[in-house]
Formats: sequence, C-alpha cells, structure tokens
Amino acid sequence: MSKKVFLNAKTFDGYKDSDIKKCAIFVEDEKIVGILYDENPDTRGYDVIDLNGKFVVPGLVNPHVHLFGTGMPSKVISGGNSQKAVMKIVNTKLGDAILGILVKSAARQQLLSGVTTVRAVGDFKYSDVKLRDKINSGKVIGPRLKVSGPAITVPGGHGDGTFSMTSDTEDGLRALVRKNKEAGVDFIKICVTGGVIDAKVRGEPGEVKMNEAQTAAVVDEAHKLGLRVASHTESFKGVEITAKTGVDTVEHGAPLTPEMAEEMKKTSSAMVVTYSPALPLQKLDPSITKLDPICVYNTGIVVDNMTQGAKDCIENDILLGMGTDSSCPFATQYNMWREVYFFQKRVGVSNAYALSVATLNNAKVVGVDDVTGTIEKGKCADMIVMSRNPLDDLTALRDLDMIVVRGKIIENPRPKRNGNIERELDGISLNL
Ligand SMILES: [Zn+2]
Repeated sequence: MSKKVFLNAKTFDGYKDSDIKKCAIFVEDEKIVGILYDENPDTRGYDVIDLNGKFVVPGLVNPHVHLFGTGMPSKVISGGNSQKAVMKIVNTKLGDAILGILVKSAARQQLLSGVTTVRAVGDFKYSDVKLRDKINSGKVIGPRLKVSGPAITVPGGHGDGTFSMTSDTEDGLRALVRKNKEAGVDFIKICVTGGVIDAKVRGEPGEVKMNEAQTAAVVDEAHKLGLRVASHTESFKGVEITAKTGVDTVEHGAPLTPEMAEEMKKTSSAMVVTYSPALPLQKLDPSITKLDPICVYNTGIVVDNMTQGAKDCIENDILLGMGTDSSCPFATQYNMWREVYFFQKRVGVSNAYALSVATLNNAKVVGVDDVTGTIEKGKCADMIVMSRNPLDDLTALRDLDMIVVRGKIIENPRPKRNGNIERELDGISLNL
C-alpha cells in the first residue's frame, strides 16, 4: 500500500463557505484517510511531501467536454464541405485510430490543467467509452471519465451529421438510448435545441428541435435503464421542455420562470453553464472568429441567457455547474481555469463560490460527489496544488505545481497551450 502525507497544505476543501486552513492530508493508495490541523502531526509510516504552505484545492471537475477536438477554430462542426471531408475519414478504420489518439490527448490535457474528473457529453463512435475503459484498467493515466457516447437528437438537430445519432420517432429515439446503453455509456446526451452556430435567424439561438413527447420518451427510456440524461439546451423554449420532462442536467441553459424552477427542483435537475465557447465568439473580432453578424448577435443572447439562468438557479437553490464545452472554437482542452474565472466575473459571486461550483457542484452534476469534489476524509485524493491563493486571484489556477489524481502525483504539470489562442483569450479576460 502507498502511504503519503501532504504537509503544510493551505487547503480550500471545496465548500463555498469554507476558508483556507493549513493542514496535513493523509492519503493511503487513492483515498484520503485523515486530515489533521495540528502544528506537528505524527507522520510515522507515511512518505512525507512537504507543500511548504502552498495552496491546495480539490481537483477540478469539468462536466461539459467533447474529447474529439482541440479548440482550434475550424469549420468541421459547422457543416459544409470540410465537415463532409472529415466525416468521411472518421468513418473508416483509420478514423478510429485517429479518434483514439485525439481523445486520449484531450483527456491528458484536461488532467494536466487540473481537471481530475471529466464528463464527455458527445463524441464519435464510442471513442470516449474505449478511453474510459483504458483509464479505469490503469493502462492510461487520465482523469476519471464519465461518457455519453454519441449524442441523440432528431434529424436536423444539433450534431446531426457529426457527433449525434438521429431518429424522428419516439420508438426510434428509445432504440438509440438502448443502443448507447449496450455500448456501455454512463449517461445519455440529447440535443433538445439547435446550437448557436446552427441558427440562421437573428435573435433566435437554440431553436427547439426535439419536441416534448420525443424528449419525454428519451428520458423515460434512459431512466428505466438507470441512466441520467443531459441535454444541449440553448434557449428559454428549450428549458421549458427539459424542465417539464425531467431532464437531469440542462447544458448551457436559459432564464427560469418560477414554474420552471419548481419543476427542476422537483426532479433534482441541474443547469450547467458554459462561458468558454460563448464569450470568445461574442467578444473577439469577427475577422478572427469568422462568424457572421447574426451569429455574433445570437451568441450575445446566449451569454446573457446563461448568466440569468445561473442567477435563477442560485436564487432557487437549483444545482448549478459550469463546463468548458471543449472542442468548440476557442474552447481548448486546458482552460477550465478560465471557465471558473469567466463564471466568477459574469455571475458575480465570490472566488470561493466559483471554485465550489467547479468542484463540489460539478461532482454532483456528474454524479460522483460520493468519491470526489471535496478534500475530506473518505474521498479520493484528487487535488491540485498552486503557489498563489486562488481565493485572492483565480488566475492562480492557471499554473499548477502539482496534481494528485486518485492518489497518483504529477509534478509540474504543463499542458500544451496554443500561443495564438491564449493571446486572444487573455485579451478578453482583461476586459470583462
Ligand atoms: Zn457541448
């Protein structure tokens, strides 16, 4: 058995009302077995890792990731000829090999940026399921992974032609749920509305694609099989449907009426906001994003909707999470810290609150809060270590000194960052 103690750890435990406390964290194999606040704890029998007063927070949880991409702007997921060309390759044996490399590298970047748990919400050909199994068997070191396989929607819905499977009948949609269950997914991802880049009309992002009956059928079939349902939902009309049908997690989100809030509370439904793809498309110059004016305008609506939705969740005590939507243009696999930063600025909460959402709340969203999301006795040793205090300045999360994932230590983790994208994103961050 491996026995370690992390000494002189200035620790934020993940609860939003907590303050930093200096402690010693005792870890056996992958579990935290004790936390002591004494000046000189008895460390006999343990390998001592002296953190010398560095700051420790729970490993970040990223509940909205696609593993197939890098976040480099491309036209692949927005239709057209380049999408067709890429999909031709994806659907070959070679495509399987390429996907395998892409998803493994993406998960690695997430981990190196401090994300110890990832929920993948829509990838190609069960490449996410295969990677999860490799990580769980110890063949690959990666974050804890929960996966949906391909998303499910109706013809013309978000991801049709790329990462979604479609059917236009309720029976057909139920069959797709069973197909994913058989392939070993952890939950079901659906796309009730379109995406902001799909929208063709000014003022109309997130057009409803799956109707109430179709959504209800998927939720019913998934729940019967013991699977939760996450839905891409980018508009008020979309959230009306997800709230009524008991969708478990509403991705991206929109403002809530008191009735919708009541329905979401009744079914313990959560909302997950995603600023990382939306803010760059809203704020960066169209010469860089290559977006048309309708799309820029609609992205602004999505950002405002998410912010109001987040505030409505906080006010109504509805579980709120945040994720990066990695693989979207400018949403890299290594910038969860920016999502925390954007969230804090836009929603207007304390740094501790934002960090608690990125750890404990997100662990609840993913359904793994019994094993991770806080630094407590009995939980997995998923922790990140940094030199500066993140409760003073969230940019402290950008450069980590150490990551502990299920008890394994990674020293001086350095994700591969793209200099051009970082420069653009830094420009936005300073002007929020
Ligand atoms: Zn997404």
